[in-house]
Amino acid sequence: MFELTAGAVVFCVLVAAFFLALWLFYDRRDHRRFELERRKITFHCIRCDALYSAPTGPETRPCPKCGYSNGRLKF
Ligand SMILES: [Zn+2]
Repeated sequence: MFELTAGAVVFCVLVAAFFLALWLFYDRRDHRRFELERRKITFHCIRCDALYSAPTGPETRPCPKCGYSNGRLKF
């Protein structure tokens, strides 16, 4: 009887650890994805008036429409 109870407890702990690991994995993954999305830099082309964004990186990016290199937009 004791063997069965101990086995059930071990099984429950293993299942709980499995779901905890899954939760942590997906939480961290979604957080990283959200941070990447949030940290996009917005640029405004002073030549053709286009607005575009790019992930974090250099301070200047060429415009996708006309190719003019613009500095980041500051608010
Ligand atoms: Zn442009």
